[in-house]
Amino acid sequence: VIPNKTVEEILSTARVEDVIEDFVTLKRRGVNMMGLCPFHDEKTPSFVVSPAKGLFKCFGCGKSGTAVGFIMEHENLTYPEALKYLANRYNIVIEEIEISDTERASKQLSDSLYIINEFAAKYFNENLSQTEEGRAIGLSYFKERGFLDKTINHWQLGYAMKEGRSLTQTAISKQFNVENLKVLGLTTQNDNDFFRERVIFPIHNLSGKIIAFAGRILTNIKTQPKYLNSPESEIYNKRKNLFGLYFAKNEIRKTDECILVEGYTDVMTLHQGGVENVVASSGTSLTEEQIRLINRFTKNITIIYDGDSAGIKAALRGLDLVLKEDMNVRLVLLPDGDDPDSFFKKNGTEKFKQYIEVNKKDFIAFKTDLLLEENGNDPIKRAEILRDLANTVALIPDAIKRLTYVRELSTKLEIDEKVLSGEIEKEVNKHKRDRAQQIQREKIRESRLSGESDVTIERGEDTISIKPVEVNPDIYQERNLIRLLVTGGDTALEDQKELTVGAYLLPILKDYLEYFEDPISKKIVEFGIQQLEKNKKIEPKDFLYNADQEISKMSVDYTMSKYEYAKWEERGVYLQTQPMPEKNFKKDTYQSILRFKLHKVKKDIKEIETLIKLPDITEEQKLIDIQVLQALLKERNDIAKELTQIIY
Ligand SMILES: [Zn+2]
Repeated sequence: VIPNKTVEEILSTARVEDVIEDFVTLKRRGVNMMGLCPFHDEKTPSFVVSPAKGLFKCFGCGKSGTAVGFIMEHENLTYPEALKYLANRYNIVIEEIEISDTERASKQLSDSLYIINEFAAKYFNENLSQTEEGRAIGLSYFKERGFLDKTINHWQLGYAMKEGRSLTQTAISKQFNVENLKVLGLTTQNDNDFFRERVIFPIHNLSGKIIAFAGRILTNIKTQPKYLNSPESEIYNKRKNLFGLYFAKNEIRKTDECILVEGYTDVMTLHQGGVENVVASSGTSLTEEQIRLINRFTKNITIIYDGDSAGIKAALRGLDLVLKEDMNVRLVLLPDGDDPDSFFKKNGTEKFKQYIEVNKKDFIAFKTDLLLEENGNDPIKRAEILRDLANTVALIPDAIKRLTYVRELSTKLEIDEKVLSGEIEKEVNKHKRDRAQQIQREKIRESRLSGESDVTIERGEDTISIKPVEVNPDIYQERNLIRLLVTGGDTALEDQKELTVGAYLLPILKDYLEYFEDPISKKIVEFGIQQLEKNKKIEPKDFLYNADQEISKMSVDYTMSKYEYAKWEERGVYLQTQPMPEKNFKKDTYQSILRFKLHKVKKDIKEIETLIKLPDITEEQKLIDIQVLQALLKERNDIAKELTQIIY
């Protein structure tokens, strides 16, 4: 358990924008920052970070929270784990952590998988220096490729022994679960080591944890594949990972460019030589998920192909995806016979960078040249080329960019601009229809997730219609009061400062606790009462940073009000300091509590009226009921009168 004062230190040190920027590129918009949401697919940013409030919220998918909440969500951690993550990031020492038995028992599978991978990486790495075989085969291979000790340690490179069970046996002797070793693919179903007599490259996720391994064989056994990769598991999805991204992400953000190469050693050689914005798609052709991953850090991808790479045309087809994401793709072809590794070693850092700069070609220009070179003289093929390129250009969301390409292509293809634009617009209109449907779907999802939902969706044959939904008035009233409490609990209600919104509301709400219909609102009131009794005051941060995630989440949602950021899309600007209607706490508080009371009284009245009408009621009971009813009616009238008297 983390001591309270350490929790407070962590919460006050962690800056939401720093923590999020480890994963998402943020751009300043007035007092806020914005970026592409890491929790859903989007092309225009709707992910808002408010450094002043210490909160984030995505107006696309509705995810919101504090720095702690972000880490919990993004890294799939529990609350205490997220605190430990932040403590680690800010070098805050946690004095005592006693994990209870139940906590240990409930540790997630993924946790133990990471621990096993960490152990395996260390084991493979130690083989390099501590075994004769490892030194003779593994280390000498890495040295031959020119890797320095610091590079070998940085990437946690290793060697898997020839002997068939050495890793598995060591793991078992250290009490690791064999089943989990099998889940990770480190151990085969027959209890043998999966990687044998191979040099090992650990594969890290975005937060630097090892999620898989790649092993390269060094002997010339033809029956064995050159590279062997860990199978996919709970923690490894190869479509969603790029080799080296953890080590490259900061440099990618800084240079605003991501260089993509094919091999692991290419990545490491370039990093060692000071070109650190380099990643590899590790054998697979670039996936949509990988492109989005890059898109979180930069819009500019430069892909380096080996001069003799056969599959360039096939690879180009995959790149249409990148255009759709509105990213800029450039391609560089290395001289025949060179791969990035060998080319870099021949030329050194400066010449390498220069070559890339001079030779990188825009994707569409590259594709056009390639297609024309192959079949440019055949008139039938030319028509095909035209359609192919029109399809590609149509994928670009930006109309002005498309226009630039029309000019360029019409010159190259010797075709009238109008013909070409006509061809492209046909395709664009098709995409637009698809996109409109997509946006409608996103809007519906947003309204469902945001909690401000006042719509319901009905699916007919083919159409989706949106209808207003009936909001439960009890829950609405309760949440309205919760909104005031969590956003303005420490605001002075009257001119004299003693009475705050929280100190006024909570004692009243305490009397109504049993009437609450919304469990989260009730929980917030209960917490607020405790806090007020203990500290004699209540502040927004008490709710926002609450260890109870339901409390925290609801408070964040009310604090990061959509109203503040409304219509930014249409105006092209992000409003930051528009005053919110709830800033008028005084009027709002009095009104809300009276409406709340009024509603509850009306409900009681209805209930007692049905009781009186019951057939088997005694005369005596009826009399009592009538008296209660009269009292309630008077109360109702008093409240209603009071409501009309509130001065605006
Ligand atoms: Zn989102």
